[in-house]
Amino acid sequence: MLNGGAAFAALGQGSSAGTRLFALSGHVRRPGWYELEMSKVTFRDLIYDDSLGGGVREGRQLKAFIPGGVSAPWFFEEHLDMGLDQEAVGNAGSMLGSGSVVVMDENTCAVRAAWRISRFFHRESCGQCTPCREGSGWVDKILRRIEDGLGREEDIELLLDACDNIAPGLTWPPKQTTICVLGPSIPSSIVSGIHRFEDEFLLHVKEGGCPHPPDEVRHV
Ligand code: SF4
Repeated sequence: MLNGGAAFAALGQGSSAGTRLFALSGHVRRPGWYELEMSKVTFRDLIYDDSLGGGVREGRQLKAFIPGGVSAPWFFEEHLDMGLDQEAVGNAGSMLGSGSVVVMDENTCAVRAAWRISRFFHRESCGQCTPCREGSGWVDKILRRIEDGLGREEDIELLLDACDNIAPGLTWPPKQTTICVLGPSIPSSIVSGIHRFEDEFLLHVKEGGCPHPPDEVRHV
């Protein structure tokens, strides 16, 4: 404000001009709010720079990160050098969304992470639209039984089918089938988790429970 609009617009580039607040949370050494120049600062800078996130907690490896709130499809190691740029992130199949970046370390259980996010949507659904009201309940129950060791192999397909009934085609951005955007936001974490970590989902089924040791389970 002190420098004026032109100075603000000279920062960043294209449709991602200026600065923006990002809320960094999860398994980083220095979670917090950071005001950063759009496009020029990368996810790697945000997560690993000592003046920002400071790296993954306890020196662990990165497993995944959510680039813009729990409605956003997950990103992975290969996305770290992407700038905090709305267009680039959108073209890569996700969004900067709310500006909430959540880091998951290598010990995070992908099933539990997807379940906790789905449970949030189920709790928040106001119940007006069938895909959101019923779909959120279905995915919450299926994910919970997989995490609890009561899952079946066909549950992976069932989860994707339930998601497809919420937002047909499982495209990004998702098809809008409901009054507000909460409903079509439900599949993102589940589809991301299954596409990247299907083996981990199946291991829960085969081993009859979460393969992560109880004292090592880390979740968002
Ligand atoms: S999509 Fe929005 S309006 Fe429809 S049930 Fe879900 S929260 Fe309610």
